[in-house]
Amino acid sequence: MGTYISDRIRILVVRRAEHHCEYCQLHEEDSFLGFQVDHIISIKHGGKTDENNLAWSCFACNNNKGSDVGTVLLPDTRFVRLFNPRQDKWEEHFELIECVFYAKSDVGEATIKVLKLNDVERIMERQALL
Ligand SMILES: [Zn+2]
Repeated sequence: MGTYISDRIRILVVRRAEHHCEYCQLHEEDSFLGFQVDHIISIKHGGKTDENNLAWSCFACNNNKGSDVGTVLLPDTRFVRLFNPRQDKWEEHFELIECVFYAKSDVGEATIKVLKLNDVERIMERQALL
């Protein structure tokens, strides 16, 4: 087990995501950087290398997410978990208007923040793809 991801699981994850990042929705053909299999709940926090805990992710989302599973939305110090592509519906947490992400929930807001979905370079990348 551990972090080893078999070809079978990798193919399942990619097909299930239809080659899109399950966080920011970028298509892998539109990215110069390779996409990665993301552990939704990181191994550090007990997440398993199991198809129900895996998501297809662009480099930026995966890199910014790291081993995080949530954050606080200051000044509130309550823990807010990140979006879970296996359990949550994307449209219930995010809205993409003119290449900018808007949160429809605390989960969406936490994810936009931690994954830096509205970094200027990322907004510009989305605009360039239009
Ligand atoms: Zn992404």
